[in-house]
Amino acid sequence: MNRHVIVTGASRGIGHAIAELFIAEGDHVVALSRSGQGPAGAVWAAPVDVASSEQMNSVIKESIAKFGPVDVLVANAGITHDGLAMRMSDEQWRSVLSINLDGAFFSARAVLSSMIRNRQGSIIFISSISPFYGVPGQANYAASKAGLVGLARSLAREVAGRGVTVNVVAPGFVDTDMTSNLGSTTDEMTALIPMGRIGEVADIAGVVGFLASNHSRYLTGQVIAVDGGLSMGL
Ligand code: NAP
Repeated sequence: MNRHVIVTGASRGIGHAIAELFIAEGDHVVALSRSGQGPAGAVWAAPVDVASSEQMNSVIKESIAKFGPVDVLVANAGITHDGLAMRMSDEQWRSVLSINLDGAFFSARAVLSSMIRNRQGSIIFISSISPFYGVPGQANYAASKAGLVGLARSLAREVAGRGVTVNVVAPGFVDTDMTSNLGSTTDEMTALIPMGRIGEVADIAGVVGFLASNHSRYLTGQVIAVDGGLSMGL
């Protein structure tokens, strides 16, 4: 479709699948990550630390110079650094908040003027169902992901009249590097999921693709849980 799409955290996992989906639709996909890796077919794969506003401003500026106004931003880069709150270090707290929440804000802020000037755009934040559930050991992660909901809704109201939509996708348990070391917890989680399986990266990418498409043009400020039914009713 020739859209200029920027995906953070596109080197692996969910972000990689999201980038691949847009590439398959014929879009110009810019893949950002710490390592600078991205899927085949990305027009540009660049290294960036999303927690640095200077780096984000600079990479987005360069992307706009290369590929024109940004049509879609998927703020997906994220980390976990779990531990019980009582023993959580300042560094554990701050690293997760700064990558997951500051990083998403810096990414969105950097594309906003381009989208507003162009009077169109779609921003999608990748949150989690962790803040709706409350997960022991994830006070930092859940706080960062809950923050994305407030960020998205405030932003959605700020830019709704300018043709820009802002939505949140909240994945459940998805099979990626992030969840690869959970061992027997995986079976316990699977037993709780109404659809009886953990998510695949393509399950999340499909919903992101819908939120970036014309089919969802009247949808903004929403949080969509993609979790096989795990969080229904919460
Ligand atoms: P993943 O496989 O661990 O991949 C994380 C991605 O984020 C990588 O591309 C990584 O880049 C990038 N990244 C991390 N820190 C960064 C930084 N400071 N600057 C730039 N890029 C950075 O994780 P995933 O499972 O695909 O998760 C993707 C998103 O979905 C995250 O926001 C996560 O919280 C969310 N989520 C995941 C699950 C799940 O079950 N997997 C559930 C709910 C929500 P490098 O490869 O260069 O390190």
